[in-house]
Amino acid sequence: MWGPGGVASAHRGGPTRSTAAPAPPTPPREGLGGRPVQDVVHRTLPGWVRARLGFAVSRRVVPAVVALLTLIAGVLGVASAQERHNFLAINGALQDEAGPYYFIAHGDSGNAFMRAGPFAAAAGLEVRYDGVTRRLTFAAGVRRVVIDATSDVREGLVKRPGVVRYDGGSLDSPMAILVDGVAYVPITPIVAALGGDSGWHGTARVVTVDLPDPRAGVQVGAPRVGVTDGVSRVAIDLPGGHPFQVAVNGSALALVLPGVNAPAFARPLADDPNLASIAYEVLDGVVALVVHTRHTLSAAGTGYRVGQVQRDGSDTVFVDFAPGLQGAAATPMADGEVAAPTTVQPLPAVVPVAEAAPRRYTVVLDAGHGGHDPGAITDWASEKEVVLAVTLRVKAQLEAAGVHVIVTRDGDAFLSLQERSTFATTDRNIFVSIHANGADSSSAHGIETFVFGRPLDPRQIERAIRENGGGDVGAARTAEAERIAADIAGDILRETQLNYSMALAELVQERLVGASGAVDRGVRKNLFYVIRNSRIPAILVELGFVTHPEEGRRLMQPAYQAKLADALADGILTFLHNGGTLAAR
Ligand SMILES: [Zn+2]
Repeated sequence: MWGPGGVASAHRGGPTRSTAAPAPPTPPREGLGGRPVQDVVHRTLPGWVRARLGFAVSRRVVPAVVALLTLIAGVLGVASAQERHNFLAINGALQDEAGPYYFIAHGDSGNAFMRAGPFAAAAGLEVRYDGVTRRLTFAAGVRRVVIDATSDVREGLVKRPGVVRYDGGSLDSPMAILVDGVAYVPITPIVAALGGDSGWHGTARVVTVDLPDPRAGVQVGAPRVGVTDGVSRVAIDLPGGHPFQVAVNGSALALVLPGVNAPAFARPLADDPNLASIAYEVLDGVVALVVHTRHTLSAAGTGYRVGQVQRDGSDTVFVDFAPGLQGAAATPMADGEVAAPTTVQPLPAVVPVAEAAPRRYTVVLDAGHGGHDPGAITDWASEKEVVLAVTLRVKAQLEAAGVHVIVTRDGDAFLSLQERSTFATTDRNIFVSIHANGADSSSAHGIETFVFGRPLDPRQIERAIRENGGGDVGAARTAEAERIAADIAGDILRETQLNYSMALAELVQERLVGASGAVDRGVRKNLFYVIRNSRIPAILVELGFVTHPEEGRRLMQPAYQAKLADALADGILTFLHNGGTLAAR
C-alpha cells in the first residue's frame, strides 16, 4: 500500500538543527554508554491495512546502530555546525548519503529532509524529476508517490495541502527542495505516503525510516490487446488461482487485482474499434487494469465478456469487448482462442507514463533596449538592432527544438526594465537577457555572460548603471539592485539558487566563445536590474562590443549573428536537457 492509510504522521517531533533540543515524543531513557536503545519510536500501519496489502511493515532498526550513534553523539556533542546534524537509518541500515538535512527558515523542527536519490536507492524505488512540471516521482512499478518541487527554499518550506500525492490520496507537506542540483524531500510525508513509518531518537540523533517492500505482491506483466472479427480482447496472466474482480462503470471496466504489483503502463488505443485506452492504475490501494471503451457497459454483462484459461499453473484472464456482447463473469473459453496469435497480440514493452507526456520547456528571451532606447550605439553598430536580430534567430532555433519561447519584444519597441523582469515567472524555465556591450575605449572586445550579484571589481558597477538605463535612473536602479544583492548575500538559501544561473551562464559562454572565436571575458556577476529578482535561472549575455571597430561591424553581419544565435540556442538546450536529471541526484 502506498499511502498513509490512517497513519497521520508517524514521524513525530522531527529533529532540530543544532543546539535547540528536539521534541522527541518520549524522553530518551538512554545515556551515552553504548547500551542498546530500546525506545526508538515506532508506529505501525493499522492491521487492516497490512492485511489488505498482504505485507507487513518491517521493524528493522538495528539496536547496535542506534547504540553506536548514541556514542558518536556523545563524542561530538551538539557543537557540529554542518549541514547535516543527524543520522538516517532506512530499514535498519545507516545511510551515509541520504541525510537527514534541515532547512531552517521558520524554526520549525519538522523540516527534516533527506536526499531523494540515495533514499530511493536504499528503499528500492525509482526516482524521476520532471523539470517541466517540477515534480519528483518515486515509483515501484505502477505504484507511485509524487511531490511538487521548488528551488526556492522559503517557498518550499511552507506546508500546503496536496503537495504529496499517492495512489488514492494526498498529504499536506512542504515541497521537495532543489539546491545546487540536489533534490531533498521532507521525510515525514514522503515516508507516510509510501506506506512506511518514521521515528526519531534524540539521544542517538537518528531518524529511523521503515518501509514496506515496494516490490511486494505478485508481479504481473503488461496486458495484451488484440482484435478479431470486431471483438477486442484484453488478456493478462496471473498465477493459478489468483483472485480477481470485475467492476464496471459507464464506459470503464476495471479488472481489480488484489495482492498484485504491475508495471507502469498506460496507453491510448487510437486504432481499436471498441477500446479507447488501457492502463494499470491503483484504486484504493489495489492495482487494477482499467479499460475505457467506446461503448457503454452494464454491470449485468452487456458490452463485455470475461473469460479465463488455465494452463501450467497459471491463469490467463481475458475480457472481450464489443457493443453487442453479452456474457457473465468468468465465461470459459477454449485454450486455443487465447493462444492464437491472431487473437491476442503482444504489446511492446512497458511504456512509462512519464515518457508518454511530451516535455515542454518555456524560455523567455529578452532583447535589450528598443524603441527610443538604442542601447550602445556607434556609427557602425546599434545594440538594439543586433540583439533583436539574434534574439529572433534564437527563438526560431529553440522553437524548432520544441521549446515554447516568449520574447519580451519582437520589434523595435520600448519596454521598461520593470516590465521585462516580470516575464521571469516561476512557471517558465529560463530567462535570458541579450545585450551588446559599449565601452569608452574602442579597444575593448569579447563576449561575457552575467548572473546577478555584486561584481568583484566595484569599478564594474559603472557597466551595470549603463545597462540599467544610464544616468540618474540607471544609478537609482543599480542602487536598488545592490540592496537586493546584499539581501541575497546574507541568505545562503537564495544564494544557492544562483548556482543554477551560474551553470546556465557557463554553458552559454562556452558555446558563444567556441562558435565565434571572440575573446572570452568569462562569466561574472553584476547588478543588472532586469535579472535582480528572478526565481528561475536568469542570465544576461553581452554578445560583443559595438564600440570596437571590428567586432562592432561583425555584430551587424547576419552570418555572425546566426553563429552567435545558434551557439546561444545550443547552450540553452543543453542546460534544459541536463536540468531534468541534475535535480534527482
Ligand atoms: Zn544593453
